[in-house]
Amino acid sequence: MTEAQRKQEIARRRTFAIISHPDAGKTTLTEKLLLYGGAIQLAGSVRARRDSRATTSDWMALEKQRGISVSSTLLQFDYGGCVINLLDTPGHKDFSEDTYRVLTAVDSVIMVIDAAKGIEERTRKLFEICRLRGIPIFTFMNKMDRPALNSLALLDELERVLGIGAFPVTWPLGSGEDFRGVYDRLRHELHLFERTARGQHRAPNQVRGIDDESIRKQIPERIYAPWREEVEILTGAGETFDVAAVMAGQITPVFFGSGITNFGVQLLLDYFVRYGATPQPRISGDTPIPPEHPDFSGFVFKVQANMNPRHRDRLTFVRVCSGTFVKDMIVNDPVSGDPVRLSYPQKLFAQERESVEIAFPGDIVGLVTHKAFPIGATLTSNPSIRYDEIPRFSPEAFAYIRNSGTAKYKQFREGLDQLLQEGVIQSFSSLDAGRATTLLGAVGQLQFDVVMYRLHWCAGLAPAWTGARSRT
Ligand code: GDP
Repeated sequence: MTEAQRKQEIARRRTFAIISHPDAGKTTLTEKLLLYGGAIQLAGSVRARRDSRATTSDWMALEKQRGISVSSTLLQFDYGGCVINLLDTPGHKDFSEDTYRVLTAVDSVIMVIDAAKGIEERTRKLFEICRLRGIPIFTFMNKMDRPALNSLALLDELERVLGIGAFPVTWPLGSGEDFRGVYDRLRHELHLFERTARGQHRAPNQVRGIDDESIRKQIPERIYAPWREEVEILTGAGETFDVAAVMAGQITPVFFGSGITNFGVQLLLDYFVRYGATPQPRISGDTPIPPEHPDFSGFVFKVQANMNPRHRDRLTFVRVCSGTFVKDMIVNDPVSGDPVRLSYPQKLFAQERESVEIAFPGDIVGLVTHKAFPIGATLTSNPSIRYDEIPRFSPEAFAYIRNSGTAKYKQFREGLDQLLQEGVIQSFSSLDAGRATTLLGAVGQLQFDVVMYRLHWCAGLAPAWTGARSRT
């Protein structure tokens, strides 16, 4: 592969995550992006797959039990000549540390807001993380097919509550029952949609110029007149679309739509492919390492236990930052420094694995390993590159754990070590505690439930808690 081809591969990568408050419509939008990306034929299959596989993995069984999303998914698909890497962020608020790690691996985010509710608490927290990292943020105002807040007020809220400039790229024509389409303010085109059965297929779409007389015949005056007036207000404000300010995270391009009926989804995807960030440098010491750097480097941002209970392996997720990843390549072990071969790399589509031979900066590779690399570790053969992307968060909940049965001590220790490597919890040593008791700290209560679940239900052990498991 020539240098020019490699540069082209980097330039066509878009690696992102969707952030939202629970129920704003993240899962629905993910599915619709896949539908438009041609990666699935019928919307509904991702969720169906998630449900049908629920019993095959402990994470998912827990997810089902608690009604929350704790499993992380990576989706890769091609769209408009680009390779789209979509990382799922865990949904529960207690998983903020885990979510933070995922956000270190992306180059932009799509923020989904329920247009009836505006900015909710978790959206604000996730937004803050993205802002700290200077990540470009695209906003999707979802559920416009339901009674929504006033669109101008929603824009105002972005500026007032989040303190970010908002540039509406699309503008809704009507809302709730009257939601008919969106106007593309950059191309001056009105997209009129039709609903399809349960939004399983792409929404049929007619495109018109704003002054097209036929619009007035099709759209009742009570919907047309306020829309036209708002479009004129926005045009009169005279703001132009500043791509550099979007890249710097100072302005968020805003798209209106409805994930469930597919209205406005394709425009979001088209503009995201066009303006979403290409793979960005990651920092080693004080030096940004550009993706074009010839040496392979990447860092571990997530470790996950075997999704398949028949295998005792684990997946180590690596964000490729520079150079080219090739199957069976040798890097230095981040702990011992010894050479280690990166075998069995996997590309994942939802829970399906597929072997990967080559990957470029921006891509995520899942390494199947028996020995986990620590979270945050840099994988490279260039000793001068060492990323420090992932901070450790201060735990807010503490508890002692011990093995209440005297048997299976070794399995208990191994199970606990695995959870520590995955970064679910942290452990602390104290001088007066006996060998059999370990003090654990976690960012939230839910992690303790995960520990209990994994050790008791999945490994058949008998863990017992001592001490309060409450927030300090
Ligand atoms: P998540 O928790 O953010 O992943 O949200 P989901 O995608 O699971 O959606 C939460 C609920 O909102 C589900 O009942 C969806 O069917 C519904 N929903 C999602 N998008 C839309 C939309 O555009 N319009 C309407 N009316 N409902 C939606």
